[in-house]
Amino acid sequence: MADQPAGPANWGGSPSRELNEARFQKLFDEAEAMSIQGYYPDGTVVYWNHASEKVYGYTAQEALGANLLDLIIPPALRRQAEQGMRCMFETGQGVPPGRLTLRHKDGHTVPVYSSHTIVTVPGQVPVLFCMDSDMSELDRAEAELRVAATAFESQQGMIITDAQGVILRVNESFSRATGYAAQECVGQTPRLLRSDRHTPDFYARMWRSLLATGHWQGELWNRRKGGEVYAVWATICAVTDDAGRVTHYVGTQTDMTQRKEAEARILHLAFYDPLTRLPNRRLLLDRLQHAAVASLRNQCVGALLFLDLDHFKTLNDTLGHDLGDLLLQQVAERLTRASGDNATVARLGGDEFVVMLEDLSPTQEDAATQAEALGETLLDSLNQVYRLQGHEYVGSVSIGITLFSSQETSVDALMKQADLAMYDAKAAGRNTLRFFDPEMQEAVTLRAALVNGLREGLRERQFRLFYQPQVDSGGRLVGVEALVRWQCPVRGLVLPAEFIPVAEETGFILPLGQWVLEAACTQLAAWAARPESAHLSLAVNVSVRQFCRADFVASLVATLARTGADPRRLKLELTESLLVEDVSDISAKMSALKELGLGLVLDDFGTGYSSLSYLRRLPLDQLKIDRSFVHDLLFDPNSVAIAQTIIVLGQTMGLAVLAEGVETAGQRDLLAGLGCHLYQGYLFGQPMPLEEFARLVQQTEGHSTGLHPHRAERHQQFGPTQTPMLADQCLGFLEGQ
Ligand code: C2E
Ligand code: CA
Ligand code: CA
Repeated sequence: MADQPAGPANWGGSPSRELNEARFQKLFDEAEAMSIQGYYPDGTVVYWNHASEKVYGYTAQEALGANLLDLIIPPALRRQAEQGMRCMFETGQGVPPGRLTLRHKDGHTVPVYSSHTIVTVPGQVPVLFCMDSDMSELDRAEAELRVAATAFESQQGMIITDAQGVILRVNESFSRATGYAAQECVGQTPRLLRSDRHTPDFYARMWRSLLATGHWQGELWNRRKGGEVYAVWATICAVTDDAGRVTHYVGTQTDMTQRKEAEARILHLAFYDPLTRLPNRRLLLDRLQHAAVASLRNQCVGALLFLDLDHFKTLNDTLGHDLGDLLLQQVAERLTRASGDNATVARLGGDEFVVMLEDLSPTQEDAATQAEALGETLLDSLNQVYRLQGHEYVGSVSIGITLFSSQETSVDALMKQADLAMYDAKAAGRNTLRFFDPEMQEAVTLRAALVNGLREGLRERQFRLFYQPQVDSGGRLVGVEALVRWQCPVRGLVLPAEFIPVAEETGFILPLGQWVLEAACTQLAAWAARPESAHLSLAVNVSVRQFCRADFVASLVATLARTGADPRRLKLELTESLLVEDVSDISAKMSALKELGLGLVLDDFGTGYSSLSYLRRLPLDQLKIDRSFVHDLLFDPNSVAIAQTIIVLGQTMGLAVLAEGVETAGQRDLLAGLGCHLYQGYLFGQPMPLEEFARLVQQTEGHSTGLHPHRAERHQQFGPTQTPMLADQCLGFLEGQ
């Protein structure tokens, strides 16, 4: 340092000047906020005060003698710095003060506000003094302020009050949401926004929480300047000073109107039918639940009206779904209007509606009368002409009604009751109403038990075939009809009249019919192996449903193949109801069956609607005169006329004619006189189990007349008793439906 040119540290001068200089020197050295450096024209550092050490990271020792450009000028600024210095030394003037971004020893940038002075002492090398104040802190603070200001103008409404709750500031969003301009709020308290949706207690709790925890948040109903009440999600925070005293409160609020609307929309979707805007099933069940409980408590009666539009599907199919929807909407309107304010009108889906009435008269009779009156009104209102985009449509509805009152019934059960009653109304010819009655329920329950029993019966092999002989006029056994029986372990022997109709309705007839065919074919095959029974033909009843299945012929072929039965010995008994189906399809099936060699019989003939022209197109072999005509033959000339017509018809068409239900010799003789020579009936034998039938065959073998009791012997070898059938396969057939 001794060789260094004279710098600020050794300025010459008088003692008083020296004193001054010493003072300045100390001032410069220790100026906290001002970094001061001195440079020679070539950039050599000749002065480096304490603050410079802090701002730039170099100690005075490191800095003195080094070059400015290497120390604190970022490479990109070097040329500019050199030029600036040259210019200052040439002119003896500092460049105007301004912002510079310089470099710290560890590489980071240092924002400074820099002023420059050239100090020229004659005979001495001029020195450039730079005085920099570090702007880092200031910049940071400014940035923070900018962030705070931006944040304050966020989407949320913000409000700042003093410790007393007097509003100091609000932001734009707040003004937008509340309708109050900033100047209208400042000086007021947030009470300005209070709605009457909250009790004083609510605000008291809010303050207690604020004072205790410095914080509160929750849903608030505020009032806008225009008077409208709206929901916000609000947060309030207390701002405290170092001593923990509250100085301000900052409140934010988010408008929840949209969210509330969305919530309402979702709620609406969940509980209302979008097409008609009526309550949906879920909401109805909920209200019904409440109504049922209330009626239990208040000892009053309510009613459930279950409505189903008649022939809605036809409208939908013919006029299209748009018009169908239109109709449903108009029905909904009419129902709502006609039912009054106290009723709940709901749409269950499709064309099903429910009207629920509460608080009817306390006695069942009066309540029923009221419900019926509304039912009639609804029938009438829904009967009026609908205008559907230019189409005039007349519709009707079937209504089932059930009452609910003090006795406890589940909501599900009530709905079922009303539904059942509605079906009853449909069965009664539609466009009418019916009340639920417990007997109906009973019948339904019994029916369900019966269906289950039947299925189990098939699995457990409880079905049997009985055989009823068919004879010719000489009393010779020419054939046999297989008639199914259910040997139920609980009910005993059940006749087909009790279960065939239910089996038809439920589709159980399909597996059952398949079982009958299998069993009959198995039996035929067994008979074929014995000379005394080889000539027998076996007639089997086939239900329309079974016959109409597309795979009926194929499945019959398979059954024949499986059992080895001769198709020429098998007859199928079909009823006239078949002929309302697609006749060309039926006729094709029949032809296919005839090709196989099967016989086709038209059963119960005369009771149906057979059109003669159809009859001619079908490849039939036999007509069976229904037993009802045979029964009346001896006292009803009409029945005689019918029987006669059938016989003549058969003769002209080349069909055999058999009379069933022949119970007396008188009937038989009369039929013989009319030209009918085939009979079946109690006169010749009731339907009987296989063993009994086997005995009969043995007795009549070679004889021309019927029953000879003295020859009744057991012939175990006659044939297998009820065979193996394949109940599982038949049920599989059922599951396949
Ligand atoms: P259906 O085919 O007309 O059978 C004749 C019915 O008349 C039988 O009743 C038989 O017992 C009865 N019957 C026979 N002779 C006389 C008589 O002299 N007087 C009187 N009053 N009745 C007589 P069942 O066995 O109770 O069968 C009733 C109906 O059930 C049958 O009428 C038939 O439609 C149906 N059915 C029976 N077995 C089957 C079957 O395996 N499949 C299908 N699909 N239906 C069957
Ligand atoms: Ca029959
Ligand atoms: Ca019959």
